[in-house]
Amino acid sequence: MQNFEFQNPTRIVFGQGTVPSLDKLVPADARVLILYGGQSAERAGTLAEVRAALGPRVRSEFGGIEANPTFETLMRAVALVRAERLDFLLAVGGGSVIDGTKFVAAAAPYSGDAWAILESFGSVVQEALPLAAVLTLPATGSEMNPSAVVTRQTTHTKAFFASPKVYPQFSILDPTKTYTLPARQLANGVVDAFVHVMEQYLTYPAAALVQDRFAEGLLQTLIEIGPKVVNGPADYDSRATLMWSATMALNGLIATGVPQDWATHLVGHELTALHGLDHGCTLAVVLPPMLRLRRDNKRAKLLQFAERVWQLRDGTDDDRIEQAIQRTQDFFESLGVRTRLSGYGLGPEVIAPLVEALTAHGMTRLGEHGDVTPDQARLVYEAAL
Ligand code: NAP
Ligand code: FE
Repeated sequence: MQNFEFQNPTRIVFGQGTVPSLDKLVPADARVLILYGGQSAERAGTLAEVRAALGPRVRSEFGGIEANPTFETLMRAVALVRAERLDFLLAVGGGSVIDGTKFVAAAAPYSGDAWAILESFGSVVQEALPLAAVLTLPATGSEMNPSAVVTRQTTHTKAFFASPKVYPQFSILDPTKTYTLPARQLANGVVDAFVHVMEQYLTYPAAALVQDRFAEGLLQTLIEIGPKVVNGPADYDSRATLMWSATMALNGLIATGVPQDWATHLVGHELTALHGLDHGCTLAVVLPPMLRLRRDNKRAKLLQFAERVWQLRDGTDDDRIEQAIQRTQDFFESLGVRTRLSGYGLGPEVIAPLVEALTAHGMTRLGEHGDVTPDQARLVYEAAL
């Protein structure tokens, strides 16, 4: 096991009917900005509940944060925070709204060009406004982690930053808030959580027995409940399980003391930036060919994954590895998430610009060994056609 430090300061308030606890969690004298996306939180009544819980506190609202939030939109929220001297940010939404809120929290007190926050991967962040979240879409883990992904619209650059200053102070996770989600977003959420676990688990053995078993437990749980959540009627226990799995998949716990990959996410980001694919869809497209390409480097862990997660015990090592990757791909397809570029209307002509974009964004040495180059990414995109 590698050396590590672990501290996660986010308080989780979990369960049905927990939104009113905002009243005790947000300081009484806070000047609050509520940030949200399109109309889903308004239509579901969540914003009305939030407003009621905040009572007489000074508050403003900023709506319109898009899926894959843009720098341009978020800078308008920064201007509002500064103009109205707001000092507490409350995100109501999914990963995009929470990520966007983290960026606003870091950018509002930052005196230079705020794009530097992303260019430096967060290292320039010295301070941030306090923030918290009411989660409406289980997927990203953003509700309990220090990371955010923001897109610069003008250049189609999807960039990320992380800073311990932007952990949410608390996040409210009420599984009933997921009842209004369409199947597509539920499926994206299952895939995103699954791939988050894979990016931290499926590398090379690090004698991290506890982390491996946690990771395998999360993967098995997602395989068990995924189809029920996506294809069945809304049921509280499955939604609660999905919500907690997605949070646990990316809150730092299973990342302790192990190597991390993230090549699938970063190769996938260009598909969102250039072609607008949902984040979860990019992962379903990239992960299977990425694992096939790197099967030799990942051999020991792929065999462990085949045996412990998919219970594959027959055939040669190579057979079991291929079956495990194919089962994973079939699992994504069973949720209705297409795993080929052609399923999104994309053909061979898109590949050269995707590879160029990776190179331009400095994504040239990805993965736990730093050996996923743009040429390797090209092979992944080609295999995904
Ligand atoms: P999202 O982009 O936040 O939301 C997707 C859509 O779902 C939006 O159109 C939203 O509509 C709708 N929605 C949200 N909650 C709903 C509800 N309860 N009922 C009905 N519709 C609802 O999706 P996400 O997958 O959570 O976030 C994706 C972003 O997170 C990407 O930018 C990705 O790169 C990033 N990400 C971040 C991390 C991290 O660690 N921070 C990790 C992985 C991915 P409205 O706009 O109308 O609300
Ligand atoms: Fe993700």
